[in-house]
Amino acid sequence: MPEFVIETPPTVALPVAGETAKFPVRRIYCIGRNYAAHAVEMGHDPDREPPFFFQKNPDNLDPSGEFPYPPKTSDVHHEAEIAVMLKSGGTNIPLESALDHVYGYALSLDMTRRDLQGEAKKLGRPWEIGKAFERSAPVGPIHPASKIGHPSEGAITLTVNGEKKQEGDLNQMIWKVPEMISYLSEYFELAPGDVIMSGTPAGVGPVGKGDVMEISVEGLGSMTVKVI
Ligand code: MN
Repeated sequence: MPEFVIETPPTVALPVAGETAKFPVRRIYCIGRNYAAHAVEMGHDPDREPPFFFQKNPDNLDPSGEFPYPPKTSDVHHEAEIAVMLKSGGTNIPLESALDHVYGYALSLDMTRRDLQGEAKKLGRPWEIGKAFERSAPVGPIHPASKIGHPSEGAITLTVNGEKKQEGDLNQMIWKVPEMISYLSEYFELAPGDVIMSGTPAGVGPVGKGDVMEISVEGLGSMTVKVI
């Protein structure tokens, strides 16, 4: 007797630098407007209003190094981010112990159908149609915190075809990694395999087929993603 009535979907699993075993993904939480200069460029007050989050789907993560230009849009933007991978979770996690739950960090891109996101914002609708589409989250190998520590400062940049577009410093995050973990855990039960995408610095903009994006973060190396 088969255990399931249909074909079972695969477990989403990401490569870990220096390991053969992979990191299994449960959920993805993404913070909005977490760098002041990016909040301003999107037309918002950079003051420390409460954080807000949206979600992508686990299988939107893509370590292939290629990003297929998605359908139903003519304005796809890059957002360079670091992703935080959790090895444990819980609810009401105190700030002081929040980093104990982190397995590691990876370079990532929160690719966005900006035109569809803009319409959704205007109509007060959810953002998934602009954010949570196929292969919308290119991601690099995970660097375990046991090896690299917990990066809280250092340059984060993104170039398109070698030209610098996004530039910031991890220390410019309005909500720091422990704060995001603690805050999310008040609203959701966090668990092993959860991923938090930590927001993007200023300079977001469109890409087209054939463009090559390169994200670099001090201490995490760089990742190249080609738009196909
Ligand atoms: Mn983002």
